[in-house]
Amino acid sequence: MFEKILIANRGEIALRIQRACRELGIKTVVVHSTADTEAKYVKLSDESVCIGPPQASSSYLNIPAIISAAEVTDSEAIHPGYGFLSENADFAERVEKSGFVFIGPHPETIRLMGDKISARDAMKAAGVPCVPGSEGALPEDPKEIVKIARGIGYPVIIKAAGGGGGRGMRVVHTEAALINAVHTTRAEADAAFGNPVVYLEKYLENPRHIEIQILADSYRNAVYLGERDCSMQRRHQKVIEEAPATAISPRLITRVGERCAEACRKINYRGAGTFEFLFENGEFYFIEMNTRVQVEHTVTEQVTGIDIVQAQIRIAAGEKLWFRQRDVALKGHAIECRINAEDPFKFTPSPGKIVSYHPPGGPGIRVDTHIYQGYTIPSDYDSMIGKLIAFGDNRDQAIRRMRIALSEMAVEGIKTNIPLHLELMHDARFIEGGTSIHYLEQKLAARDKASKGK
Ligand code: ADP
Repeated sequence: MFEKILIANRGEIALRIQRACRELGIKTVVVHSTADTEAKYVKLSDESVCIGPPQASSSYLNIPAIISAAEVTDSEAIHPGYGFLSENADFAERVEKSGFVFIGPHPETIRLMGDKISARDAMKAAGVPCVPGSEGALPEDPKEIVKIARGIGYPVIIKAAGGGGGRGMRVVHTEAALINAVHTTRAEADAAFGNPVVYLEKYLENPRHIEIQILADSYRNAVYLGERDCSMQRRHQKVIEEAPATAISPRLITRVGERCAEACRKINYRGAGTFEFLFENGEFYFIEMNTRVQVEHTVTEQVTGIDIVQAQIRIAAGEKLWFRQRDVALKGHAIECRINAEDPFKFTPSPGKIVSYHPPGGPGIRVDTHIYQGYTIPSDYDSMIGKLIAFGDNRDQAIRRMRIALSEMAVEGIKTNIPLHLELMHDARFIEGGTSIHYLEQKLAARDKASKGK
């Protein structure tokens, strides 16, 4: 096992990784920007290195500074967390070339899955069901493009091969709008990702977002840890996640889960990863793979009892998977609410000083956050300040516990989206379960309209 790991991230995930290391008896080094010097996890860490000013491009995305910090602290491995450099193949390569272990997949796997066309091709080859679409990149010839779109059937979605974070996509409803939309998306993709390649997919109108968590070791052993439903989204950003998903038969999950595990063996996947699918009319359609730990890994941990962050570290240290598929048993139900420092109605960020903080507790409640009373949330980063997770014997109990926890949780001095979560925990369609990825936006639009009418 490693003696010392460098954590190349910030906020709640930096603390989460630090806790996993401590339990495994590993020393930690945290790198941080000048905006995060006062963070509690920075002080709790065995060592810390300031790597630059607040803006991420000069600190959390500064590859030479992170590698130097690993060198001067004698770290053996680097955990990238999520976001920032976690899915940057060049970073993973630089880490390994500098003699450190990258806690994640091989750089070539990150590269393969980072390009949406090569990811699709690899998944098709491995028998994972994909959204119907073009064979690879769209050609230049407009006539050919029109023919391809007709073959798929409208509406279609144009997607950039290099896209990410919900950008580089455009929905097209009619043939008349197609060619112009392709040109615009190409130009945008070139400007944003330095890659003008685009492809077409059938646009699914009312899907759910269901994803499969996997773990794979360096010896082509792979298991899937069940599914998560992350359909409650705003602007393609997840707001609530849960495990398991309501009303999807375990037989279907087994079938798609086995395909994902098989795909991992085929592409020699290493570490934790997530296969994201759209789910509509009883069918799964692969959209992309995330080659890192996800924000919502916690709900899977609650229902499987498996510590995913520790698993990442053990796998990176060369351990063989210590359990098999048949040992993975799902128990109960878990729901996660992402707590954001933002206005619960207008969604404008609300950084600033937390003047008082009262965390919730009680049976089945887990709070993953780095905040504390007196902490000042910097304005330089994402607005997520923590995650509240409720676990119960069943979904109903998890919802009840979440309501209590949300009503106990008090974060004063800034605005948070806790009121929105409370509202959703009492929403009849949410309680019923199985809402589509458009549900939250539709609900918010209706709410806005109603408040304007008053
Ligand atoms: P990104 O890498 O930018 O997150 P994804 O491919 O994961 O892009 O897609 C992000 C979101 O866009 C999905 O969660 C879904 O809401 C929507 N989306 C993507 N592809 C389709 C599709 N074929 N049909 C309908 N919605 C889609």
